[in-house]
Parts: sequence; C-alpha cells; structure tokens
Amino acid sequence: MNDFETDNSDLFPLYVGIDDTDSVSGMCTTYICSVILDRLKDCGFKLDGPPRLVRLNPFAPHKTRGNGAVSFKLILKSRNEIKKAKKIILKMVQELAVLEDPKTNPGLVFFEGDLKDQTKVELREYALKTIRTIIKKKETEKLAKKLGFELFGFKKGMGVIGALAAVGCPMDDATYELLAYRDPLNYGKKRKVDLESVREMDRQTYPDTFDNLDNGYMAITPHTPCPVLYGIRGETFNAVLNAMKLVKVSEPIKGFLIFLTNQHTDLHLQVANNISQMEKFQCYIVKGVVKDFPVVIEGGHVIFTIYDSSGEVECAAYEPTKDFREIVRQIAPGDHLRVYGGIGMKGTLNLEKIQIITLASVYEYMNPFCECGRRMKSAGTGKGYKCPGCGKKMRSNSKEKVKIERKIKTGFYEVPPSARRHLSKPLIRGM
Ligand code: ATP
Repeated sequence: MNDFETDNSDLFPLYVGIDDTDSVSGMCTTYICSVILDRLKDCGFKLDGPPRLVRLNPFAPHKTRGNGAVSFKLILKSRNEIKKAKKIILKMVQELAVLEDPKTNPGLVFFEGDLKDQTKVELREYALKTIRTIIKKKETEKLAKKLGFELFGFKKGMGVIGALAAVGCPMDDATYELLAYRDPLNYGKKRKVDLESVREMDRQTYPDTFDNLDNGYMAITPHTPCPVLYGIRGETFNAVLNAMKLVKVSEPIKGFLIFLTNQHTDLHLQVANNISQMEKFQCYIVKGVVKDFPVVIEGGHVIFTIYDSSGEVECAAYEPTKDFREIVRQIAPGDHLRVYGGIGMKGTLNLEKIQIITLASVYEYMNPFCECGRRMKSAGTGKGYKCPGCGKKMRSNSKEKVKIERKIKTGFYEVPPSARRHLSKPLIRGM
C-alpha cells in the first residue's frame, strides 16, 4: 500500500532505480518493488512521492515483456539509514530476481542527496533516449559516473540501463496504475476477477480510468504467469484507488501498489519531419500520402504504403489489432494520413493510431447505361457493349467514371486496448 510523505525537511534523500529482475516464466519488477517497499516501511523508512513505473523503448532487444523499470525516492533520517536501506534493497533484489534465467540481468542505481537542476536535465535527456532509442550499457555507466550515481549489476547487469532511466524519466504528462498482486499459491492459475464488477467499475469511473474493457471483455488482467492479479490505469491516484473498491475478486489479494507512470503518454513517439528520417526500432508520428489500396496478407494483417517526397514506408495493422484493421482496410490511394507507431525489424511501421487528414476521391470505372436504363455488358474485347435487356449495341469502349462514396470519415482511429502499447496514449486522453 502506498504510504508516502512529501515533507522534504529531512536531509537524507535516496533515489533508487531497479530493472531487469523478472523472466517470461514469472516474477515482475513492480512486484519486487512492492515487496521491497513493504520491508522498508517496516523499518520505518518513508517514501517521498509515489513509486514510478517507467516504460522504455518497446523495441529494446533484451526486454521480457513491456520493458518496464521502477524507481522511488526515500527520505531518510541519517547516513546510517541510507546505508541500511541500500543494503536491504540490494539483498532483496538478489533474493527475489529470477537470477537463474539467463536473460535476467538485474541492475540497480542509487543516488544520495537531492538531484540538482542540471542533473535532472541530463537524466531527462538520457531517459528520453532510453525510451526512444537503443542505449549501450557503457553510455549508462559513463553518465552515472558523471552525475554521481552508484550502479550495481547482477550477472551482466543490463538492468542499470533501465534503472537509471526510471529515475530520470520526466513525468510532465503521467498516469497512474494500481497493481494488485496475487497470493504466490495462485501464480499460473486462472485469475478470479469478476467481469460484471469490472464492467460496473468501468461504467462508474471511465474515463478517469481507462482500458478496463476491450469490446466489453476484461482488459485489466494480464495473460502471463506473473504475480499481477490485475492493473487499473487512470488519470489520478484517487481514480484508480476508488476503482479498485468496485472490482470483486474471488481469490486473495496479497497487496497492491499505485505507481505514477509514463504509460499512455506517447512519450515514445518522435515527430519525424519526413519518412526517410525514420529508423528501425524507434517510434514516430509521420505524415504521408497513401500509395495503394491496403492488402490483407496471410495471418489477417492489413498492409499499405504511404509516401512523401523523401521516400515511402510500409504500414501494418497486425491481426491482434482486430477491428482497427477494418478501418485501415477502408483507406485509399491519395488519402493524407498522419500515422503513429514503431518501426520494427523489417522496416514496417507497426500502427498504434492513425489520423485521416483528408480523404481522396475514389472512382470506379463501370460499363455505360443503355437508353432503356439497364447497365450494358461487354460485347467482347474491342467490340463495345450490348444491353442484356433490349439487346441494343454500342460501339464505344469507353467506361463511365463513377465516384465511390467513402464510408470512412476524417479523424483519429486507434487500436483496441488489448493491442495497445503501454506507452501509447488512448484517444480518450486527448490528442
Ligand atoms: P517487465 O515489463 O515484465 O518488467 P521487461 O520487459 O521490463 O519486463 P526487463 O526484464 O526489464 O524486461 O529487461 C529489459 C532490459 O532492457 C533491461 O536490462 C533494460 O535495462 C534494458 N533496456 C531497456 N531499455 C533499453 C534501451 N532503450 N536500450 C537498451 N537496453 C534497454
């Protein structure tokens, strides 16, 4: 449970960042954070502000799932308490991290004292770079040394990259997520969360909370064997806390924690001035003109290309984006779009949202009408037309250009909650 104070009159702040403690088969860095905070609280140590859950580049090569890292700030009473807190945190990360998984390489960062304004500026830059590009561990180590952070790594210690970013991430725009944790006895079992109560919670709290449901179905429970029972996302601390009171479960909740987070802020998106500027493993907002009609490829993915004077890029609405694909299928050559998404391994832009700025006129070429009012049929190649009703013939081969009514409207369209990236801003939060 969150228990933080904002009285900074004490002299011994300690910033803590933690990352890369979990594995695909279990555990979760937010849960480790919650267990550590409970222990620190038992020691009488106070948090300053809420703990932070920071999502980093969705294309980072070593991520397990959502590329999340955590940070928090303690306000301690003495240097001795700082020493004690650091010792507890290090020991608990070592004990709780899934060290036996070769892909788990935990990292921790500590900073003693208050962060100077210039340090905050440099950390912010670094965090944005970690959210938007790929960082080398050496770069993290160099900056940490310059700014006076202590780094601790277990095994390859790759987690220090995310841990430092978690301390530095700006929260000018931010949301909250309440994470409720399961009894370890239930890990891997079906989650017992009452769907009707989640629907009621959504009715009462949306849009102060969001992404609770997907097409009427549960969206707050993860599908992995991790310790999280459910997560409620919202605009304020109180919104997610009050929403929790409405959710009924029939399994024990082992505790919960409310994080301040950069989730759903679009912080990962960079505005690209043109298409050729975009690079792999980064996420962008870019304008372009649709080149050809979308095609549906094997697996149900919908693909089309946009271009500008600098080049072109293939865009994809993949199968998990469900109904969003129906929207994408309706775009047509000449439409002006603004697309939001990330460039993957093959150079395709994975769509998160689109804005249809203008719709092109689309025409179909049809056989002409006969004087009798029926549409004529081809009389054979180069032989003009023949009316199937009155039999009248027409020598001309010219077709009639018919404007097709476009059903889709200009405006914004987005993927459903189940396909949304953690960082992606839902339209309900405003554009
Ligand atoms: P979960 O969301 O379940 O906590 P995860 O997807 O966050 O898991 P991690 O176990 O945290 O995955 O592993 C991510 C690893 O990638 C960490 O070592 C982190 O330091 C590193 N990392 C994060 N962002 C970047 C980046 N931009 N460039 C290079 N490495 C990164």
